[in-house]
Amino acid sequence: MYKGSVTEEAREVLRAIELIQLGARMPVLEKELTLSRNRLIRLYRELKNASPPKGMLPFSADWYFTWLPNIHASLFYNIYLFLTDRAKCSRLDALTRAYRLYLEHCESAETERVLSFTRAWTLLRFFEGGLLTLSSCTVCSGRFVRHVRDAHKPAACCICMPPARAGMTRAARASRTTQTNTPAATSATRGRAAAALGELSGTMRATLAEVTRALDPKRSANRLRLVASVPV
Ligand SMILES: [Zn+2]
Repeated sequence: MYKGSVTEEAREVLRAIELIQLGARMPVLEKELTLSRNRLIRLYRELKNASPPKGMLPFSADWYFTWLPNIHASLFYNIYLFLTDRAKCSRLDALTRAYRLYLEHCESAETERVLSFTRAWTLLRFFEGGLLTLSSCTVCSGRFVRHVRDAHKPAACCICMPPARAGMTRAARASRTTQTNTPAATSATRGRAAAALGELSGTMRATLAEVTRALDPKRSANRLRLVASVPV
């Protein structure tokens, strides 16, 4: 039985609906909301026509250091920081807005969504727990996700310095065999891995640069209004 006011309970239900629609799992809902577990399960079943999945949430931060997850996590966290630091959104509001903006970016860039909502939420928890931090890339100066123990070592981000086998998944290989003459596939300067990034690296780089510029207080006034007005 909910003990708070009726309006606050209604807000909590709306928050739960939004989180469930974005893909939040039960442990996330229970941690972020004050509604009872039974209430949340009922809401979940109503919205998804299925029981919430069981099993543990990811507990290792290693996933965020692999190249493509690192690019997506860095993009998401830069947007999240902008929304909390500049747009003054609350933590939960910034989380959901940043995740929506991230999804919109993936859609407009026609790229795969790598970061699930659970991964985005876990990323925040790792930052809040002091396990992860942001470092500036020595090449593009964009800020990217790193382990705190490595933060003092200069390094380039995964966009500027992709690992040798980046993008060598089965799907990427299949795609390249059907598009052997694209400019991205014949790029000689950044190697096969960089070529595999193709349009993704340019789009991600542009978005990261835009968020970084927006974080500059001298230039943020207009952008602040722009991002703060994004509907939720
Ligand atoms: Zn870089």
